[in-house]
Amino acid sequence: MEVEFYSLASGSKGNCTYIATENTKILIDVGLSCRETEKKLKEIEVNIEEIDGIFITHEHIDHIKGVGVLSRKYKIPIYSLEETREEILKKKNQGKIEERLLRCIYVDEKNVINDICIEAFEVPHDAVKTVGYEIKVNDIKICIATDLGHITKDVKNRLTGCDILLIESNYDEYMLQTGKYPRALKERIKSNLGHLSNREAGRLIVDIVDAKLKYLFLGHISDENNRPSKAEATIFEILDSEGIKYNIKKSFRIDVASSMKEKIVIKKAYE
Ligand SMILES: [Zn+2]
Ligand SMILES: [Zn+2]
Repeated sequence: MEVEFYSLASGSKGNCTYIATENTKILIDVGLSCRETEKKLKEIEVNIEEIDGIFITHEHIDHIKGVGVLSRKYKIPIYSLEETREEILKKKNQGKIEERLLRCIYVDEKNVINDICIEAFEVPHDAVKTVGYEIKVNDIKICIATDLGHITKDVKNRLTGCDILLIESNYDEYMLQTGKYPRALKERIKSNLGHLSNREAGRLIVDIVDAKLKYLFLGHISDENNRPSKAEATIFEILDSEGIKYNIKKSFRIDVASSMKEKIVIKKAYE
């Protein structure tokens, strides 16, 4: 059994993640245009016509930009919370989406698509409602949590025991503070319903890291208030101070989601 994982894009310019087994292919968010999504999937040799469903985290444009066109063109169902669906339908630039392709899902409820089981969990963020996703294929577990203002106990429990984790590391506290964003926007980003800083991500990782974790991807890294190298350095420093090993054989690997060049594959033998 194999599970493939690939981040097509991660950040304020667009978010889109591909997860697949031999029988099932899904996307989490389509924050790129349809054309960019097609191009990225082609690069990793995925036939877009085989995508079984798109799961949406929330209605911010960097997560839904191309979803209407993609769904219409390839007849791909869009799965989201009811509240998110209403918001998507309100957006004129999404065009008309066929009613039958809009599927409702609920927080903390399992959705089974062939051999993939996917469950949404609520995260604190300033959209009408925002979810992260837990994806399970037998005992392989992948979690995606970007766009969250703070870590709740519930979120921490969800993110424990992953094989692959994509977690937000949005901003460097000093860069945001001294950067050129207007004060209101800085406050929004820092708030409990905004985004996670590098330091907050680092502390979370210390709490949840375990022997099962193989790949940790830092995502939604801000272009304006962060740098991939800064995010990594801050997190490495926090992990070092706790004596946690990374990038070492038999330990887990840390990478920046937006710089993924190829799919990663998690393999498990049937017992
Ligand atoms: Zn976002
Ligand atoms: Zn957002």
